[in-house]
Amino acid sequence: MKSNIDKAEADITTHYKNPYEIVQELLQESIQTLGLNENIYHILKKPMRVLEVSIPIRLDNGRIHNFTGYRSQHLDILGPTKGGIRFHPDVNMDEVKALSIWMSLKSAILDLPLGGGKGGIIVDPSALSKRELETLSRAYIEKITPIIGPQKDIPAPDMNTSPEVMGWMIDEYDKLRGYNIPGMLTGKPVIIGGSQGRLAATGRGVAITIQEAANVLGMEMNGATAALQGFGNVGSMTAKFLHDLGVKITGITNAHGGIFDQDGLDIPDLLEFVKKGNRIHTYPKAAPLTNEDLFGLPVDILIPAAVENQITKNTAPAIQAKIVAEAANGPTTPQGDEIMEQKDIFVIPDILCNAGGVTVSYFEWVQNAMNYYWKEEEVNQKLTEKMTAGFQQVLAIREQKQMRMRQAAYTAGIRHIVKALHARGWIENEKMLEG
Ligand code: NAD
Repeated sequence: MKSNIDKAEADITTHYKNPYEIVQELLQESIQTLGLNENIYHILKKPMRVLEVSIPIRLDNGRIHNFTGYRSQHLDILGPTKGGIRFHPDVNMDEVKALSIWMSLKSAILDLPLGGGKGGIIVDPSALSKRELETLSRAYIEKITPIIGPQKDIPAPDMNTSPEVMGWMIDEYDKLRGYNIPGMLTGKPVIIGGSQGRLAATGRGVAITIQEAANVLGMEMNGATAALQGFGNVGSMTAKFLHDLGVKITGITNAHGGIFDQDGLDIPDLLEFVKKGNRIHTYPKAAPLTNEDLFGLPVDILIPAAVENQITKNTAPAIQAKIVAEAANGPTTPQGDEIMEQKDIFVIPDILCNAGGVTVSYFEWVQNAMNYYWKEEEVNQKLTEKMTAGFQQVLAIREQKQMRMRQAAYTAGIRHIVKALHARGWIENEKMLEG
């Protein structure tokens, strides 16, 4: 009989779409549109290093299960590679590679001295006990230890990896190295060198970019309506900040179902409900909502904050929102994107929208290097400056080159990387992009 863990791995192929091909197509298209030499595409199209590890773990029932994990490092010409670790049944090598390329572009747009990295384990963490999860987290770090470090590659949280998981991982790494190295990983608990504001950073950054987009469209945030897919770290924090700005969130879904209230969900109450360990679809003060119906809700702002490939040729036609804020990585397929373009939807692309997480992770790494820690207000203020500057830079390219926001964001990221490639002598006499 198959265990839940086996089933999670067997399910992978059933809803698999390849984000690696998608990001490569987007890179190629942008490089061609910008009239850059195709050599640049050949440098950027693949990660410089990808590691696959096998992680045999003794489960509570005595059986050994051999998990598969990955770590991808895209490009380190701007600094050490950096990016989260994902625990999810759908994790696969191509997904991790794609996510590491997106991380490079994100850091480049935000002018962070970092390259892109990403890691993951094929696992459904809800099928593991806490002891099993801790053993797996520690064993994964041990397996990737040879290629990570504060000047090499710096992991962080992503889907299903919390500060608690980061705490286990850094503890394991410190034990292996024989001394404490707080800058080897970010998103740690504050008591062991984490940054104030890191937990909320991605959601805060998403809300900042939505506010900027609303300014462009002349939309008032107070009284605007929104729908959100995903109520984990990013989704719940985004909901909190939008609620604080007066946005009425009418629909939220996650992997288990969803909720709807046309008068606006009581976000502080819902956050309390979830904090007690409840799942959102059991929230008693709202009507049920499916993931399919979420996309067609009559709202001003739609925020996918869960997994890839959610805005597709099937879901995009129903979208009524004026702003789509890609809080998740890769939530839109190329066909979904084309439909949003035809509908003239203002899309805040993932590589800009969710860059608040890596920005405060960078701040955490800087604080670890100084061994001197900032107050939360200072972190938040620096985050706002970075996100606003990133948004304005992409917006200026959009207006100057009459591009969509996604192409403008790719242009900003590629332009920054091309300058570094040039400075290092990897490319010569290539056309340089102004700006
Ligand atoms: P999380 O694990 O905290 O939450 C994920 C949420 O997505 C949960 O609510 C889950 O139920 C929901 N979900 C999962 N599968 C789904 C499905 N098939 N349909 C609908 N909902 C589903 O993860 P997170 O850290 O909030 O990450 C969410 C997204 O944001 C991911 O794409 C991640 O890469 C991206 N992101 C995260 C960070 C970060 O700092 N955590 C930073 C940048 C980008």
